[in-house]
Amino acid sequence: EDRLTLFDLPLDPVTLDHALTRLGEWMFRAHRTPHTVVTLNPEFIVQSRTQPDFVRAMQEADLVTADGVGIVWAARQLRGREVPRAPGYDLVKGLMERHGAELRVFFLGAKPGVAEQAAQHAVRDYGVQVAGIHHGYFDQAEDQRVAEFVGASGAHLVLTAMGAGRQEIFNHYWRQVLGAPVLIGCGGVIDVLAG
Ligand code: UDP
Repeated sequence: EDRLTLFDLPLDPVTLDHALTRLGEWMFRAHRTPHTVVTLNPEFIVQSRTQPDFVRAMQEADLVTADGVGIVWAARQLRGREVPRAPGYDLVKGLMERHGAELRVFFLGAKPGVAEQAAQHAVRDYGVQVAGIHHGYFDQAEDQRVAEFVGASGAHLVLTAMGAGRQEIFNHYWRQVLGAPVLIGCGGVIDVLAG
């Protein structure tokens, strides 16, 4: 496919609509193979220069979208390619709108109490099922416990919002344990959903 490379990182020139369709296929097909999704922003490029694990998590991601205009601009200037925006919030909202009650979502991240609020709003606004909830302030020694907790939830979609790098590395490293077919690192999205 026509994936491009920007500062040694992959970028998929997919429209929001196409991205939503692909994620839908991954979530609802019989084989629950985990897929990681990264929504690339300029901060990731800078931060990952000193974080090889973060680079690897992005290089091995199944889908890398342009989170904002900074990346769209860079792809145009440096690669002469037009890459549509597909921000994390739009991906999450789009999936919940499209799949509603058939979708089981795990809310992982943000401060204690915030993911509960986000989940309540997602149920109210989109009718999704809540597979589980966990805050994002745990020590790395607890990664496996949390990953197993998520893995036992039967989620289709895991929203991992634990800050740039941490969330992508966690999704990538633990993907087989997390087990859900779509794992999205989505920064402030849980805070936004919580309103
Ligand atoms: N967050 C978290 N655990 C952490 C750090 C951040 O759950 O150890 C959450 C934070 O509460 C917010 C989201 O991750 O909901 C994004 O945080 P922030 O904007 O500080 O991170 P950035 O994406 O700018 O690195």
